[in-house]
Amino acid sequence: MSFDLASRLAERRVADLYRQRPLLDSPQGPLVRVDGRELLAFCSNDYLGLANHPLVIEAWRAGARRWGVGGGASHLVIGHSTPHHELEEALADFTGRPRALLFSTGYMANLGAVTALLGPGDTVLEDRLNHASLLDAGLLSGARFSRYPHNDAASLATRLDKARGDTLVVSDGVFSMDGDLADLPALCREARSRGAWVMVDDAHGFGPLGASGGGIVEHFGLGQDDVQVLVGTLGKAFGTAGAFVAGSDELIETLVQFARPYIYTTSQPPALACATLQSLQLLRSEHWRREHLAALIRRFRDGAARIGLSLMDSTTPIQPILVGDSARALQLSQLLRERGILVTAIRPPTVAMGSARLRVTLSAAHDGAQVDRLLEALAACWPLLVEAGDA
Ligand code: PMP
Repeated sequence: MSFDLASRLAERRVADLYRQRPLLDSPQGPLVRVDGRELLAFCSNDYLGLANHPLVIEAWRAGARRWGVGGGASHLVIGHSTPHHELEEALADFTGRPRALLFSTGYMANLGAVTALLGPGDTVLEDRLNHASLLDAGLLSGARFSRYPHNDAASLATRLDKARGDTLVVSDGVFSMDGDLADLPALCREARSRGAWVMVDDAHGFGPLGASGGGIVEHFGLGQDDVQVLVGTLGKAFGTAGAFVAGSDELIETLVQFARPYIYTTSQPPALACATLQSLQLLRSEHWRREHLAALIRRFRDGAARIGLSLMDSTTPIQPILVGDSARALQLSQLLRERGILVTAIRPPTVAMGSARLRVTLSAAHDGAQVDRLLEALAACWPLLVEAGDA
């Protein structure tokens, strides 16, 4: 008996599914240095351009001087410090919820929340296109686990009617690989009428969506009675790292007591919380970032329609170009790279077989001319792909 890793790796290569990690040798921003070359990038989740903001960097530095670097211990031992606490209070205020709880990553927040709330005998219903961390969380919980077709409230209703025990409906707010929004008003209606709870992971909605960046719940005007468990991540529009769960006092206390990925891990560096406090302030006050981003999204979509690209039904900064075949997606990414533009190809298993795509993401740090450069490059490269017969 031996681990035949070589064969597994070889199979991935043959199927054009082998993944490489581009080596970034610069801060995040529209212009990056990757694998030794300067490129115009459209693939980070730094939607508001805060990851490299001077005030956020300064808050981090000041935080490190005041609080040191390491969190030192888990929150329940001696790792919960004043900056963590202040950030939790600021996030509760931002989300309009009684309380918020910081996690070290979004992956852990999702694992923690679902596994603390559900166990064998309960039911978890998830959108088929949910993020991997939500799907893993549902499986790990031991609850009866079922995936409903993407955004299909009628199918959800049928499953809710058969559900047993405590029942949690779980959905991305903005779907991370498609960029479309969950049909939350309908999902929440179905759940609420049957006494189920709704958990929304709005990793990609906080910042770009809602009049004040409050994400999909602000966008749809939904409250605590509609979405009982609200998750946000801090590594995207906030430009830092970590995540939070917002909700009732009872929910947060339950997570503190029972969420293993919260309890058994070192707290994030306090200076990171200082940096996030600063980025939250920018996110809430600098509305021009959201407005500029919305204008870039319109500019990209109008230009892409003129070229005849297959875009998805998305009004968010996530604007995937559907290619289909993995090899062709890689080819399009490579053709763009030869023209100085970086857009990563997303392939199975991250997306369904036959739906490989280039996941273009826009940021308030981009300007109109940079979006035009992307469009010009796509106009030049797309026909080459069409000629090959696969786009
Ligand atoms: N949820 C969604 C929808 C995501 O897209 C991601 C990250 N790509 C996560 C959770 C995980 O967040 P983190 O990177 O903080 O672990």
